[in-house]
Amino acid sequence: MIFTAKTAHATLLSDVAVFGFGVDQFEVPIEECQPYIRTLKFFLGGKSKGDAGTFVSEDQRVASAFDRLREHRMLLEGEKSHDDLVEDLYFKNKLYLDIVTPDSNHSLSSLESTSVIIAGSGGIGNNVAFAFASLPINQMVLMDFDRVEESNLNRQFLFTQNDLGELKVEALKRRLAERFPVLHMRAREAKVGSDSLAIVLDETPGKKLVIVSADSQNIVEDTAAACMARGVAFLNVGYLNDIATIGPFWIPDAGGACPFCGGDSLGLSPNEQPDDVKLINRNYSAPSVYVNNATASAMAMSDVLSWAASDYANVMSLGRRVGINTRNFDKYEIALSLDPNCAFCARLQES
Ligand SMILES: [Zn+2]
Repeated sequence: MIFTAKTAHATLLSDVAVFGFGVDQFEVPIEECQPYIRTLKFFLGGKSKGDAGTFVSEDQRVASAFDRLREHRMLLEGEKSHDDLVEDLYFKNKLYLDIVTPDSNHSLSSLESTSVIIAGSGGIGNNVAFAFASLPINQMVLMDFDRVEESNLNRQFLFTQNDLGELKVEALKRRLAERFPVLHMRAREAKVGSDSLAIVLDETPGKKLVIVSADSQNIVEDTAAACMARGVAFLNVGYLNDIATIGPFWIPDAGGACPFCGGDSLGLSPNEQPDDVKLINRNYSAPSVYVNNATASAMAMSDVLSWAASDYANVMSLGRRVGINTRNFDKYEIALSLDPNCAFCARLQES
């Protein structure tokens, strides 16, 4: 059937009518808006394709309004209208997918077949695990070896005072299960590294995605080694003080650069530093708060939805590292190009 999208909206002003909200909206002169309004009203709750054909054949202006509303996804096609889904756990997610992905049904079935590995269950891990749990994914594997501490509670929002001293993966799994009982989850007490990740990947069948949310040294190198050798997509998510950063998103069939293409231009494997510099850096502690964790996690999830839709042109971190200044919202980008002489890619091909 064809039905009016829940995200369709109209505003009549004195001289124009505006259809839609957000990025995708268009205007028509006020004297030409009636066929659009008639069409949106007719398809509320859904009509069969036969009824749709009869309706548009009666009036050329209605037919063009119909085409334009279809193009802007304000009229959708499906087995049932979204009126039947208002009580559904995933209802609002479906509406969002309707506007941000070319085909929400394709995106949903892609997510349904995906197993997500959350490599690090701290600040970023809490945010992205929650976000994935709210989607109909196949299963989630939580990795971490750390235990919940009082100083985590400012940002690792799924933990409570009652969880202090408990393994993060166990506490996170329990909290998510309370909210999303249908979600299939596994908890792995392990430090994220190439060996532990290799084990998890090998015991998880089917399509996989790794979110790199741990912050140990050489974490990106370790993840890249395990994932690239197995053709598994991965995305690094984090922050540099007050800049939220993600990427590069490595997607096997998208032909993008790996994080080490062109040398270590991102500085992911820091060189050995003099002793006095090491002393200074040992004093460093990341200013990890809601703002940088949530911003980076939201950027990552937006790219994950485009990945699930196979809409690679809209994966903003494909082949690049993207940062958002969390204070003035400026955007930074470091583009990486696929490097045929990349030692890292070459090493993986040999193995
Ligand atoms: Zn490379």
